[in-house]
Amino acid sequence: MTDNNELIRLSAADLAEKLAAGEVTSVEVTQAYLDRIAAVDGGERGVNAFLHVNAEEALAVAAEVDATRAAGGAEAEALHVLAGVPVAVKDLIVTVGQPTTAGSKILEGWHSPYDATVVERLRAAKMPILGKTNLDEFAMGSSTEHSAYGPTRNPWDLDRIPGGSGGGSAAAVAAFEAPLALGTDTGGSIRQPGAVTGTVGVKPTYGSVSRYGAIAMASSLDQIGPVSRTVLDSALLHQVIGGHDPHDSTSLPDPLADLVAAAKTGNVEGLRIGIIKELHGEGYQAGVENRFNDALELLKEAGAQIVEVSCPNFQYALGAYYLIMPSEASSNLAKFDGVRYGLRVLPEDGPMTIERVMGATRAAGFGDEVKRRIILGTYALSAGYYDAYYGSAQKVRTLVQRDFEAAFTVADVLISPTAPTTAFRLGEKLDDPLAMYLNDVATIPANLAGVPGLSLPGGLADEDGLPVGIQLLAPAREDARLYRVGAVLEALLEAKWGGPLLAQAPDLIAGVAGSASSVVEPVETLEAQEAK
Ligand code: GLN
Repeated sequence: MTDNNELIRLSAADLAEKLAAGEVTSVEVTQAYLDRIAAVDGGERGVNAFLHVNAEEALAVAAEVDATRAAGGAEAEALHVLAGVPVAVKDLIVTVGQPTTAGSKILEGWHSPYDATVVERLRAAKMPILGKTNLDEFAMGSSTEHSAYGPTRNPWDLDRIPGGSGGGSAAAVAAFEAPLALGTDTGGSIRQPGAVTGTVGVKPTYGSVSRYGAIAMASSLDQIGPVSRTVLDSALLHQVIGGHDPHDSTSLPDPLADLVAAAKTGNVEGLRIGIIKELHGEGYQAGVENRFNDALELLKEAGAQIVEVSCPNFQYALGAYYLIMPSEASSNLAKFDGVRYGLRVLPEDGPMTIERVMGATRAAGFGDEVKRRIILGTYALSAGYYDAYYGSAQKVRTLVQRDFEAAFTVADVLISPTAPTTAFRLGEKLDDPLAMYLNDVATIPANLAGVPGLSLPGGLADEDGLPVGIQLLAPAREDARLYRVGAVLEALLEAKWGGPLLAQAPDLIAGVAGSASSVVEPVETLEAQEAK
């Protein structure tokens, strides 16, 4: 028996091995994580990574896996490699039996009648679902401060942001509250939180992981992907959730490549790695730039060929994104109207018309950032402005895609820092939306082009001792390359550090005063309220 403190620090791959060897049970593992959540997630200065903890169901699934294993035979043989390994799910992804809030008041207490495809696949693999993780409301943000349920804190420094919008998933994994998590990435919400929390995050090729059951933010950009502590672990989880889904009309028909094997290739000899001229240097924190250069050195020593590429249209990517994304969101969010889902607020006085109920509900249910984007998107799509804004942005999108195409003729994989800075302080950019948007400058091009991206820890910045992320990008459908290069770079870096970066993170138990549980009790559904 390994002690709990060790158990929660094991990678998912190591946990899977121990489970298969019978050295530990899934119930022990799941309970160890639930205890960790209870110890560090709640209270005044808790991490607040979880909006809902799914203890009972997670333990039941764990017990089922343990029983199957104990019985042996064909059923035990047929268990998935990750069977019994717990996972957390971003609260933008719908789940039966647990609330889904999207980080918004407008969905408080709402329960989905169906599971997202990725959740079905977690269930089929018999992975206990620990709960739902915090996020910026409807995944709009880079700091998780736009959650209606309070910000998540960065386990490296509880006064700093964990990135966003998937700060909950990244912080949960970084704080050893979960070995694995699911995130969604529309403009960087898996990779940027990964960068600032010292974890691994992957945005798969657009269409290669089903979006069915991910509450849509910007449908042409959204992608679900894995969050983990090692590159191999992300490959393992990606392998569970990936592959064609008839429920998603944008789902690629391709068979899933062997990503796990790719992560185990172990060499980058002869691979051409392209530094994107426009995505480093000016505007990037010195410590970020230093760790980026260290990574390049290591890859060179390992036999990769480093080349420089220019993607001149990337300078317009952020601007194009912040027109396309709000435009699509303004349409996607129209369904939250107080009629079909969640919250319904009645106007205080005056006539009770449907428009006024919708208005009162949306005014009370949406936060400022969501309203800002709905207004921006509605404006960009309005007659008379459509061509100037949305139309131009779509043209830029094509140019960004062409830049990638050209870059991939001279490089197999591209590399950049994931984010221009390390984690900033809570509150620092909350009143400055444009400063907040700039965090995504290096991650957005991949979403505009649909190509896959992976962020892995690159070390700590000299100035502040906080994690820096390294981003790898590959052509569409070549996600396997990311795992191959990512795993090699990770091994080289860990050899240099003498172990995983997260081993250097401060002891959370000492930092978190009080340990009251942060479990948000499932709120009554509208139906239940109305039934009274
Ligand atoms: N930070 C970006 C935004 O606010 C990305 C969000 C995301 O990827 N979900 O739009």
